[in-house]
Amino acid sequence: MVFDHHVHLEHGPYTPHDYPKAWVAQYFETGRVRDVSGIGLVEHAYRFTEAKGLLPGEWSAARCRYSLQTYYSEMRHLREGFGTALGLEMDFVPEHVQQIHQFLQQFDWDFVLGSVHFLGEFGIDVKEMTPYYDQWGPETVWQRYYETSIAAVQSDLFDVITHPDLPKLYGHPKPSSQFLAHWYQQFCDALNAHNVAIEINTAGLRRPINEIYPESALLEYAYQANVPITIGSDAHEPENVGIFFEQAVALARSVGYREAWGFVNGEKRAIPFDMK
Ligand SMILES: [Zn+2]
Ligand SMILES: [Zn+2]
Repeated sequence: MVFDHHVHLEHGPYTPHDYPKAWVAQYFETGRVRDVSGIGLVEHAYRFTEAKGLLPGEWSAARCRYSLQTYYSEMRHLREGFGTALGLEMDFVPEHVQQIHQFLQQFDWDFVLGSVHFLGEFGIDVKEMTPYYDQWGPETVWQRYYETSIAAVQSDLFDVITHPDLPKLYGHPKPSSQFLAHWYQQFCDALNAHNVAIEINTAGLRRPINEIYPESALLEYAYQANVPITIGSDAHEPENVGIFFEQAVALARSVGYREAWGFVNGEKRAIPFDMK
């Protein structure tokens, strides 16, 4: 039994105040076909007007267009019907911890994914910003990425840290494996200390790197440090729900995992892969 706890409704035919039911239903239909046991909805917080100012830069400011209240009330209703877990994908911005806390507290989320997409104004997965990779160099990019990720874990704002080696996505040179090992260890120790899960995210297979997040070396550290996992497709449209989950589960099993967290009826549970 596997849940897809990273699903965005984002690319649908929306108006700022509507989630068309026929569109949303397609996500659940794909999930059923792919044998996904449950879906965790996690719209990007930066899409909501209520999040204005929580993220740096013009890229984010231009995207605050939708109502958080509408998302919560419409999807909460859906949650009752389908057994859906309702959450958000929230960017961690170190200087805004207090405001992020207040933002998240407005509603009763089943879970919150924590993301590091930004290092200051450098959007790691924003195509136009890739010159930063060469300007900063691999060690600075990856060190700042894990310093920020560790601070995200320590903030206790999140249940899961998502796509936990994101700076690899365009295939830029990485630091040495010894350099990365130091940060993988620090990161996994923090996850363990704060009981935060790490996500296996199959979206990397749809990006230039063509590799699941995280690489198996990081997942091995996570397993050794007793860090729980969740699994997510990062689907932004219905056809990607549950995609490549055989590979995700195979990767998890290859380092020793036999279960993943699921958020069911508002409760966090460890659910064995082989449970029917
Ligand atoms: Zn993300
Ligand atoms: Zn996402």
